[in-house]
Amino acid sequence: MPIRLRIDAGVAADVAAEVRRMVAGFRRLSRTDHRVSVRVVPAPCILSPAEVMCFGLFEGPPCKPHRWPATRAVRVCVSGVALDGFGLTRRQRVARIGRTVLHELVHYEQWRDGRPMTERGAELRAAHLRRKILATPKR
Ligand SMILES: [Zn+2]
Repeated sequence: MPIRLRIDAGVAADVAAEVRRMVAGFRRLSRTDHRVSVRVVPAPCILSPAEVMCFGLFEGPPCKPHRWPATRAVRVCVSGVALDGFGLTRRQRVARIGRTVLHELVHYEQWRDGRPMTERGAELRAAHLRRKILATPKR
């Protein structure tokens, strides 16, 4: 199944390029059994359905993966603003956005595979995927 990537107007070109590379890498290294929609918004953070402010969000579907309707997308939403500060360079801050996209896509994998949705698992696998993606030359 495809990943539909939507990068909203107002997201900087370097952020868009980073996100495109990470999503393409995820498609190569993993699989999606469902329609997955990734949206990048020009906002510094996102309000989750539970009203928690966050940088990225995987819409945790309220049902088992095999019951998810084939026509409906499972959604990931990520802030596309590389916030100033944190003592990081712009390049590092843009990389954090790419890592957040992978982190949320790993939550999708956890749900898809019926595994517990853990933050530690998502962080470790996202870091692993990112290393593999960066080791592949850009096309
Ligand atoms: Zn998470």
